[in-house]
Amino acid sequence: MTEKDKKVLENVFLANRPISCKKCNGKLFYMGGGKYKCHPCDEEYYDDFGKVKEFLEERGSAPAILISEHTGVRMELIDLFLRTGKLEIIENSKFYISCEKCGCAIRYGRYCPHCSREIFGGIMAMFHEDVGECPKKNPKKNVPKVHFFKKN
Ligand SMILES: [Zn+2]
Ligand SMILES: [Zn+2]
Repeated sequence: MTEKDKKVLENVFLANRPISCKKCNGKLFYMGGGKYKCHPCDEEYYDDFGKVKEFLEERGSAPAILISEHTGVRMELIDLFLRTGKLEIIENSKFYISCEKCGCAIRYGRYCPHCSREIFGGIMAMFHEDVGECPKKNPKKNVPKVHFFKKN
């Protein structure tokens, strides 16, 4: 995912956010976690991140394709949430995404800690938003970008 792709997807995400209540046309307030509430009538709404998060809370792990089918959220956006660390793969999952440089398994972000040190250099790498975390044991190779879970 290039920086440009990321920007485009972020704009898609922003454009899809709910703004006013479909029932009463009231103003929506952001509750956190991708959830919005109408002030006058208490109707709840979700943005694309909220839809994915709710789905994962109800169902646990699921392939991205299934999440996309059920929530109507584009696969690319689900990938974006993962790459930007909004979502992460839980510990002990059999599935991981891969570092964009070396292909090793990571739980979120774009690069593994090792590659991030090469790319961003020294201690600053630790604070870079693109830096993911490697699974603690048995990292799998060539794993599909499919199963992931909500970030606590
Ligand atoms: Zn309303
Ligand atoms: Zn790497």
